Amino acid sequence: MLDNTQEFERAQRVLVGGVNSAVRAFRAVGGTPRFIARAEGAYMWDVEGRRYIDYLGSWGPMIVGHSHPKVVAAVREAAGRGLSYGAPNVLESELAERICALFPQVERVRFTSSGTESAMSALRLARGYTGRTKIVKFEGCYHGTADSLLVKAGSGALAFGTPSSAGVPEDVVRHTLVARFNDLASVEAFFVQHPDEIACVIVEPIAGNMNLILPEPGFHEGLRRLCTQHGALLIFDEVMTGFRVALGGAQQVLGVTPDLSAFGKVIGGGMPVGAVAGPARIMDMMAPLGPVYQAGTLSGNPLAMAAGLATLELISEPGFFDEVSRRCARLVAGLNEAARVAGVAFCAQSEGAMAGCYMLASPPRFFEEVQSQDVERFKRFYHLMLDAGVYLPPSPVEAFFFSGAHGDAEIDATIDAAHRALAAVA
Ligand code: PMP
Repeated sequence: MLDNTQEFERAQRVLVGGVNSAVRAFRAVGGTPRFIARAEGAYMWDVEGRRYIDYLGSWGPMIVGHSHPKVVAAVREAAGRGLSYGAPNVLESELAERICALFPQVERVRFTSSGTESAMSALRLARGYTGRTKIVKFEGCYHGTADSLLVKAGSGALAFGTPSSAGVPEDVVRHTLVARFNDLASVEAFFVQHPDEIACVIVEPIAGNMNLILPEPGFHEGLRRLCTQHGALLIFDEVMTGFRVALGGAQQVLGVTPDLSAFGKVIGGGMPVGAVAGPARIMDMMAPLGPVYQAGTLSGNPLAMAAGLATLELISEPGFFDEVSRRCARLVAGLNEAARVAGVAFCAQSEGAMAGCYMLASPPRFFEEVQSQDVERFKRFYHLMLDAGVYLPPSPVEAFFFSGAHGDAEIDATIDAAHRALAAVA
C-alpha cells in the first residue's frame, strides 16, 4: 500500500514543493497533502485507501461529481477519434453554440486551455479594443497567473503571504490599478484620476478567491455604469462562478451584463479549458479577424470539448440547479447550526453550488474581514474534518464546491463531522 507521507517525500525530490499548483501543498493548513488515487461521485480516495467527501471538486469543475458516466463516456468516445488535431473540429462549434445560447450578449467564443489564458486574453482584447493601457482589478480577486493580474491577488497567492509575486517587474504592473471589492468609490476614484486611460475593469462578480464574498447590492450596477460612462470594458471573470452559481453564471444571478466574460473550469468538465466570450464587435478584434493575437496548440481540444459538452448537457437538465442549490443551502444551514451549538465564531453561506465557510461570526463583506480569521483555529478545524473524511479546500481564503453527486448522506455526514470538529476547537 502506498503512503501519503512517503509519496510527498518522493514528490518533493522531483516536483517543486511536491506539487504542480502551489496551494495543493497544504502550506496554509500544515500537514501532508493527500495523494489522490481515484475519485467518483462526491468522493475521492487517497493512495492509502482513505475515502473523503470532496468539497474541492478540482477547485470548481466537477459540478456533476467525479467520473460521471456520461462525461467519461463522452471523453472515451472522443479519445477513440484522436487526442488532438491542431485543426478545427465540430465539437468546438457545438460547445460555443451552447455558451452563446445561455448568455444573450455572447456572440463569439474563443477557447483556451486554462482560466489563466482566458483572463489574460480578455485583458489583451480589452486593451486592443479600447486602445487604452490601464486596467482596474480588485484586491483579493484572482484571475490566474498572468503577470499583470498577479497583483494583490487572492487564492494561493494570498495564502502564501505573497500577494504580489517575485519575478513580476514593476513596469509590467505599472498599469494595474487595484481597487477594493464592494467599494464602488475606490473604482470611481481611478476613473477620475485616469480619464480615458482605463481599458477595463476585471472582477470576479461573486468573489471566490478570498473565500466566498458576495457583492453588495448596487456594486456591479455601479461598475457597469462607470465602465459605460468612461468607455471602459467590464470583464466578468466567471472562471469559477460560470455554470456554478447558476447555469447563466453570476451575470444571471446579478442581472448585470459584462462586455466580456472569462470562463473555465465547468465548461471543461475536468479537462483543461478556458474561454473568452462576448459580442462580435469586440471579439472579432482577435486574430485571425483582428490585430489582437491569441492562439493555443491544444485550444478547443476535442476531449476537453466533449467533457464540457457532456457536463453542460447534465447541468442544463430541468431542475438541476434548483436541486443542487437547495442541497448546498441545507449543508450551509447545518454548518451554521453546528457553529451555534458549539458556540464558535464560525459561519457558512452559499450561492448556487458554490459556498464558503469562515472562522468569523458572520459572512465577510470585505477582503480585510477574510484576512482577520483565526488561522490557527481554522487549521485545527481543517484537520479534524479531514480526519473525519471531509476534504475541504486547504486554506481559510478559499471557497468550497458542491456537486450534483452530494446527496443527503454526504450532507448529513459532513454536518456531523462539523459538530464534532467545531466542538473540539471551541
Ligand atoms: N479566474 C478565476 C476566477 C479563478 O478562480 C481561477 C482559478 N482558480 C483562474 C482565473 C485561473 O484559472 P486556471 O487555474 O485554470 O488557470
